[in-house]
Amino acid sequence: MGSHLLSKSSFIKGLQCEKHLYLYKYHYDEMDDLSEMQKAIFQRGTDVGELAQQLFPGGTIATEGNPPDYDKGLKRTAELIREGTSVLYEASFRYNEVLAISDIIVRAEEGSSRRSEAKPEWNIYEVKSSTSVSDAIINDAALQYYVLSNTGLSIKDFFIIYINNQYVRQGELNLNELFVIESVLEQAKQLQEFVEENVERLKKVLTKNHIPDVDIGEHCHTPYTCSFFNYCRKDLPEYSIFNFNGMHLNKKYELYNKGIIKLDDIPDDYPLNKNNKLQLEVYKSGEPLID
Ligand code: SF4
Repeated sequence: MGSHLLSKSSFIKGLQCEKHLYLYKYHYDEMDDLSEMQKAIFQRGTDVGELAQQLFPGGTIATEGNPPDYDKGLKRTAELIREGTSVLYEASFRYNEVLAISDIIVRAEEGSSRRSEAKPEWNIYEVKSSTSVSDAIINDAALQYYVLSNTGLSIKDFFIIYINNQYVRQGELNLNELFVIESVLEQAKQLQEFVEENVERLKKVLTKNHIPDVDIGEHCHTPYTCSFFNYCRKDLPEYSIFNFNGMHLNKKYELYNKGIIKLDDIPDDYPLNKNNKLQLEVYKSGEPLID
């Protein structure tokens, strides 16, 4: 059935940094180990996803295998849609070598007895364990819209389901209060040209036979801390300007880009705040400071 070059997550990684995308695709083993905190965040994402499925009970899981067999998932999704299944979890779609797996898709009610005659419309729900809708989430939705709509699925609306941080549980968990459901259809539609351009750009990156030459910078921190953060910093000295406590990131990278990397490289007259000055003095003296 062919294969895919990009997925939702690799697209987002590629938008952040071409090197991130390339490493993720071809040098997965070099990825930083997950911290306990990151593991907990991933687990929370899975838990929230499963909880959100209960908003649309009785659905059918369309993925196959663990780890997922994408070709089987695509086939199963197509079968379930053909058979008239109303709610699918983890439905797979592929277009232009991009794979998108949708958290929840729900056949929209038509309010008419002629339902079977018309092409069904679908509401798409993407579940996030965040408490707001960020630009990265909109880009994710836009990519998903691009794939699904181009495979011929008729999309009525596109929603993000995320956590309502104002909800206070009293007694039974109330999913309708725990979650916020917000339409991002218009934003997703407006980004289709952007998605198309970037899909082509990122596919080209993946056809290269070398790791893209991208230096570290503020982009490594946003929208998410890159999963190759330590890999790209393995040649930094043990103590560098990145060890300054409380110094703003843009100032650190400003120094880095000037070639001032080791603490010893800092010119004597470089303006540092009181704490950083003290930190530098302690480093240079090699003597502990107890205050
Ligand atoms: S750490 Fe930074 S430069 Fe390296 S791959 Fe990640 S985003 Fe790109």
